[in-house]
Amino acid sequence: CGVFGIYNASDAASLTYFGLHALQHRGQEAAGIASSDGEKVRCYKGKGLITEVFNPQIIDTLTGNNAIGHVRYSTEGGNEIENVQPLMVRAHTGHFAVVHNGQVVNAHELKMQMENEGSIFQGSSDSEVLIHLIQKEVGSFSEKIKKACNKLEGAFAFIILTKDCLYAIRDKNGLRPLSIAKLDEGYCLSSETCAFEIVNAKFIRDVEPGEVVKISKEGLSFFKYTEYTQNKMCAMEYIYFARPDSNIDGINVHTARRISGQVLAKLEDHEGDIVIGVPDSSLSAAIGYSEASGLPYEIGLIKNRYVGRTFIQPTQKQRERGVRMKLSAVKSIVSGKRVFMIDDSIVRGTTSKRIVQLLKEAGAKEVHVRIGSPAITHPCFYGVDTSTYDELISSRLNVDELCAFIGADSLKFLTIQQLEEAFKTKNLCTSCFSGHYVTNLFSLQDKLIK
Ligand code: 5GP
Ligand code: SF4
Ligand code: MG
Repeated sequence: CGVFGIYNASDAASLTYFGLHALQHRGQEAAGIASSDGEKVRCYKGKGLITEVFNPQIIDTLTGNNAIGHVRYSTEGGNEIENVQPLMVRAHTGHFAVVHNGQVVNAHELKMQMENEGSIFQGSSDSEVLIHLIQKEVGSFSEKIKKACNKLEGAFAFIILTKDCLYAIRDKNGLRPLSIAKLDEGYCLSSETCAFEIVNAKFIRDVEPGEVVKISKEGLSFFKYTEYTQNKMCAMEYIYFARPDSNIDGINVHTARRISGQVLAKLEDHEGDIVIGVPDSSLSAAIGYSEASGLPYEIGLIKNRYVGRTFIQPTQKQRERGVRMKLSAVKSIVSGKRVFMIDDSIVRGTTSKRIVQLLKEAGAKEVHVRIGSPAITHPCFYGVDTSTYDELISSRLNVDELCAFIGADSLKFLTIQQLEEAFKTKNLCTSCFSGHYVTNLFSLQDKLIK
């Protein structure tokens, strides 16, 4: 998912619309915006792309100088309308709205406990747990947030809008990104820095793991909800999820991908003629591979830009149709060539298998598939939708078997160590490559039993 917030700008809802538009790649199932005019919190949300859910008339009804927004990509909790965000709380102590990116791994336990104590949940999403926890605590709103967050385990970047404040919170492991920027008279919060450009906001810094940022009339203030923090940014944000022009924890996404391509090239023991990338997310890695190998970078695959991200389609059938509609091989470029095909990741194997087939049909002599990440052998429980073993082809097949399955002439992944070298940091979550999870998994642990 993608989250975005604006504090103190006269057109807060419309700036949020533009911000979410820049975050659309993070989720395409639903979108919503909540705004506040200092008295009332209003919310509008629906299923579909940001351009499908909103029009200027609707934006005009979202009055006020503060706003938050969300683009949804469903992981835990289905695609029902109750799960679409912002989630609204209408309490006598004050209305507030919440947007969340990530997945709370002890949501089930917390929810059962609170239901036993009388709470009633509207939807099935893990995000709703935070608002109930906040409501049950006593003290100032900041104190309530602090106590509530200490009960949550897992991945979260939350933005909360009250009638006159904005709060931004990042989980203590820093699994999901969230940054702050300065607007003329106000502030801006976003999952990715690429959205700051659109609204002309100036990057200040990333929210730190375990940090709560409060934005109010007094300006910015910060506190840690816990001192037990570490920096385990999701490696997949760099590899696949984020936009290349975003910087996450000080590392530019395009640069990280480009270096991972260079690392792949340095490890090469096959020969080839050209390098191609799978648009869009692996073009940076393909450029890096070409630079380090000295082989020409070519446009061997064309993407139909009117088909959305295949992976984000909920069913396998929709995904397969998606890949077929989305990519075409360029015969004049690949025909007779030994092709290094660079992709960012293999999840279910649908994309790679189809592309190898396309390239061979277009006359490629050999297709060597190089992946800018380690093999994904384990499910992610932190907000990237690869939740079951069965879906993950690398949990079932080793590299040789997978190479045969996708019909490639050779296949290589990066190791975790090579990835850390490429990104020049060990401050990464690599749980889905290693099976060593950053947090306790509670009942989700059951999903690890094959
Ligand atoms: P597959 O077809 O193997 O299931 O998916 C791999 C392809 O899907 C890659 O080209 C990658 O760019 C794209 N993809 C789309 N969404 C995601 C995602 O959420 N995670 C990962 N790792 N890859 C994704
Ligand atoms: Fe990212 Fe993988 Fe960690 Fe999930 S398990 S947060 S996809 S690195
Ligand atoms: Mg791709």
